[in-house]
Amino acid sequence: DTRKKDMHEAPHELSEIRHVIAVVSGKGGVGKSLVTGLLSEAMSRKGRHVGIIDADITGPSIPKMFGVSAEICGSEAGAYPATTSGGIDIVSMNLLLENGSDPVVWRGPILSGVVKQFWHDFIWNDIDYMFIDMPPGTGDVPLTVMQSIKLDGIVIVTSPQELVSMIVEKAVKMASAMNVPILGLVENMSYFQCPDCGKKHEIFGKSHLQEIADQYKLEILGRIPMDPRLAAECDAGQVETLENIYLQDAAEKLLQLEKD
Ligand code: ADP
Repeated sequence: DTRKKDMHEAPHELSEIRHVIAVVSGKGGVGKSLVTGLLSEAMSRKGRHVGIIDADITGPSIPKMFGVSAEICGSEAGAYPATTSGGIDIVSMNLLLENGSDPVVWRGPILSGVVKQFWHDFIWNDIDYMFIDMPPGTGDVPLTVMQSIKLDGIVIVTSPQELVSMIVEKAVKMASAMNVPILGLVENMSYFQCPDCGKKHEIFGKSHLQEIADQYKLEILGRIPMDPRLAAECDAGQVETLENIYLQDAAEKLLQLEKD
């Protein structure tokens, strides 16, 4: 279907980006950014060069997770992303605002425009995997991103407190309307593992993830426990020195994209 392909916007002429994965969720606060960060770090530990577009513009948290505050720089040719100490390239609204804590109050069309600029005005040097941290929901910005950027697929982040089947159904519909594959599901805050006895407790009740995955024929890429240490280290910008990044198996599966 060439007409759909024509709508995709090319990246900057000096960019090289091999695989692009968008991370989506039904609502805010389920840990979509955390999953984006962990997936990125997991791919980086596989020796891949990773880029992140923080498209969750009104609640950007990616730079903080990686302890990056450097301002974006640019030349006449284009703008350059900021680079983490582990070599992951990041662009986020946070890195463009003079004061990172300033709220962004723009509306949909402008937000979408900013995300497109992150895509084609920046020089992304030799990126194996680009992750796009999408705003929650199925609104304007996710739609525009799916329309204008050629994605390898999306990863859906859920948590057991949500009406997961509804969220998955919405995402499945949006992805199929946009002709974008769903790479799989990640369940966050899946369980709590007792630090003393090691026993796993499903504190939000039994997970229905497997049933939903079966129903929609989706793969479960990973499950992340409720982990206060994980939250503390991410809040402190230490994703790259985490001992357990939980999503090694998911990263293994994303490597399959290189074989297709
Ligand atoms: P979203 O991007 O979906 O809005 P975030 O990734 O920003 O959500 O996570 C929201 C908050 O919840 C953050 O402070 C984060 O550190 C915390 N959090 C997310 N996942 C976990 C987890 N598995 N264990 C503990 N805290 C978590």
